[in-house]
Amino acid sequence: MAFLADALKRVKPSATIAITQKARDLKAQGKDVISLSVGEPDFDTPDNIKEAAIAAIRRGETKYTPVAGIPQLREAVVGKFKRENGLDYKPSQAIVSTGGKHVIYNALLATLNPGDEVICVAPYWVSYPDIVQLCGGKATFANTRIEDNFKLQPAELERAITPKTKWVIMNSPSNPSGAAYTRDEMKKLTDVLMRHPHVWVLSDDMYEHLVYGEFQFVTPAQVEPGLYERTLTMNGVSKSYAMTGWRIGYAAGPQQLITAMDTVQGQQTSGTSAISQWAAVEALNGTQDHLPVFKKAFERRRDLVVSMLNQTRGLKCPVPEGAFYVYPDCSALIGKTMPNGKKIETDEDLVLGLLETESVAAVHGSSFGLGPNFRISYATADETLEEACRRIQRFCAELR
Ligand code: PLP
Repeated sequence: MAFLADALKRVKPSATIAITQKARDLKAQGKDVISLSVGEPDFDTPDNIKEAAIAAIRRGETKYTPVAGIPQLREAVVGKFKRENGLDYKPSQAIVSTGGKHVIYNALLATLNPGDEVICVAPYWVSYPDIVQLCGGKATFANTRIEDNFKLQPAELERAITPKTKWVIMNSPSNPSGAAYTRDEMKKLTDVLMRHPHVWVLSDDMYEHLVYGEFQFVTPAQVEPGLYERTLTMNGVSKSYAMTGWRIGYAAGPQQLITAMDTVQGQQTSGTSAISQWAAVEALNGTQDHLPVFKKAFERRRDLVVSMLNQTRGLKCPVPEGAFYVYPDCSALIGKTMPNGKKIETDEDLVLGLLETESVAAVHGSSFGLGPNFRISYATADETLEEACRRIQRFCAELR
């Protein structure tokens, strides 16, 4: 339609949202659908955080806030980065936005000119390339391999960098693969970046706290202080505090960048919800007692799902270090035929077949830029996951 902006032609609707909607429609028709497509914890927001929000409402904290966030939250963000990541920022170097997604949007809108490239590491979170394109930049890609547990290798990062590269987006633990980098692995990547001083680093650390076993999370500016002046370290409360609906994300970085993001945000939202900001102050400063509970449940579910998928005909599933996703390879099933006679040509055919015949919703790998694979979110009850995996096993066993 001529009325719509050209920019819209460069954006595709989120595949994860589309599959989730299709699952909802089937459920409304009475089907017993198991949805493993959404990226949010099944836990409720901890009570201390809810109480902090209620108290804020009662105190009348219901007005506009400073655009970049209330001082108490910017202080809490600075405290978090110091305490957990060893990074030093002034409160003026921190900004709070309407979810982690909005932080990324602000950073790219404030910095991209036409032709500027942003490297996305495949498999990537579905929104990165679309946000880059909406902001007028060009998404480019660095690839990973299942043999490396979907971790970016230094030579591939080197290959992806061009004179036009403005940013590389790092995401550890990753959505959709769950892969997270050890300090040594991260250092090898930051060594590459040190050789390319024109490249900025956007580190999306949304899943920082959701790592399992003995794994130690690290973020690029912590591993390589030489990158501090060109790194935006981004995080949020959505996943670690089960606060997806509160819409709070935050970041810290060089002053000039944060000031530019503040300017952009001032003409977009005027800042995010005051009540959610007070809840986030409690999330960051208050007790972290819920975290071991979340982690224990997620680790148990990860192990259950990986084990059942690896016993499924035609699937290969590495053990991810973190987040709440697995990303099995289904290349051995491409070319097979379903009992209804339909041939599976792509991972999208497989995911649609699985939804239609076994009522299990997963998301196809092609939407994350690397396949044939599919993504399962295991942020759901153990019994539901077991039943879903049994259905996946049956579906795969019946392919000819
Ligand atoms: N970054 C990654 C890797 C994510 O998976 C998500 C949410 O799915 C976000 C950012 C956005 O988080 P928020 O809901 O806080 O906008």
